[in-house]
Amino acid sequence: MTNPHPGLPELEYLKPASLAEASKFLADHAGQARPFAGGTDCFVRLRDGVLKLNALVDVKGLDGTQEISFDPSKGLTIGAAVTMNRIAAHPDVIKYYPNLVEAVNSVASYQLRNRATVIGNICNASPAGDTIGTCLVLEGVLNVHGVAGMRQIPLKTFFTGPGKTVLQPGDIVISITLPVPPKGCVGVYKKLGRNIISDLSIVGVTVMGYPSSESQSGYRFKIALASVAPTPFEAVQAEAVLSEKKVTAETIAEAAQVAMDSINPIDDVRGSARYRKYMVRNLTREALTEVWSKLTH
Ligand SMILES: Cc1cc2nc3c(=O)[nH]c(=O)nc-3n(C[C@H](O)[C@H](O)[C@H](O)COP(=O)(O)OP(=O)(O)OC[C@H]3O[C@@H](n4cnc5c(N)ncnc54)[C@H](O)[C@@H]3O)c2cc1C
Repeated sequence: MTNPHPGLPELEYLKPASLAEASKFLADHAGQARPFAGGTDCFVRLRDGVLKLNALVDVKGLDGTQEISFDPSKGLTIGAAVTMNRIAAHPDVIKYYPNLVEAVNSVASYQLRNRATVIGNICNASPAGDTIGTCLVLEGVLNVHGVAGMRQIPLKTFFTGPGKTVLQPGDIVISITLPVPPKGCVGVYKKLGRNIISDLSIVGVTVMGYPSSESQSGYRFKIALASVAPTPFEAVQAEAVLSEKKVTAETIAEAAQVAMDSINPIDDVRGSARYRKYMVRNLTREALTEVWSKLTH
C-alpha cells in the first residue's frame, strides 16, 4: 500500500569518478543501490516507499553519459544524463529524428523534461514509457557498462516484464545508439492519456514507414505499442500485413485489426482492457493512415 505520509528516506548519495568504481559499488550492493539520472521515477517511488534502497549512484558525471552526437554512418548516440529537453533541442535530432522529438515532447511537462532522460525512461521499463516505441522502431542499441566492461544490448531484447530488464547487478546504461533512419522514413506517435499534460499513456502507438525494395508492397512499416502488454513491444504480425499486401485503406484497417488481436491488455486505473484494445485498433489505423499519406504526398 502507498505510504499515506510520504517522505524521502535517508540514503547514501554517490557520484563516482569512474565507470569501474560505479559498477563495482552497484555490484557489491545489489538490491540496495541503483543508478539514477533525472530521478523523476525513482525519487517518487522512494518517497512513496514502493522502492527501498540504501544508496543511489548518480550517473551524470560518468564518461559518455553527457554525450549527444550524430555520426552519418553510425547514427545518433544519446548519453544517459542527457535530458529530454536537450534531446528535443538538438539540431541533428530535429533534422534526422523528428519522431524522437515528438515522442520526447509527449512526456509530461517542459519542467519534468528538464530532468527526465530517455535512458531513465527505458531503464524504468514501464509498459507506458513514451519514448520507448520510437527507440524500438529505430532499432536502438544500449551501450552498457558492467563489472566485466562494456557490452551492447539491442533494445528489443532488453525488457523482461513490467519494471524488469536484462540488466545485471553492476550494470549501468551509458547511452543508446539509434541507427540512421532508413531513407524516406516518416513517422508519428499517438498517445492517448487521460489529459494532454502530465499523464502516462492509456495506449501509445508509434508508427514509422519508408519505401523498401525488400517488401512485396514496396514499403516497410514498423509499429510499436505501449501500455497494452507487460512490456512495450513491436507488433510484427501487423507490420507483416503491410509488407505483404498492396498498401490501401483496407490493408491499413486489416493491419490495425491484427494489432488489436495481438494484444491482451489489463484493466487499470487509466483504462479498461476492452477500451485499450479498441483504442489500439483506432490509433494504429489513424497513425498508419497519417504515415501513408506523408509517404505518398
Ligand atoms: C509528474 C510525472 C509525470 C510523468 N509523465 C510521464 C509521461 O508522460 N510519460 C512517460 O513515459 N513517463 C512519465 N513519467 C515518468 C518519468 O518522468 C520518465 O520515465 C523519465 O524518463 C525517467 O527518467 P529519469 O532520468 O528521471 O529516471 P530516474 O528516475 O533517474 O531512473 C528511472 C529508473 O531507471 C534506472 N536508471 C536510470 N538511469 C539508469 C542508467 N543509466 N543505467 C541503469 N539504470 C538506470 C533507475 O535505477 C530507475 O529504476 C512521469 C513522472 C512524473 C513524476
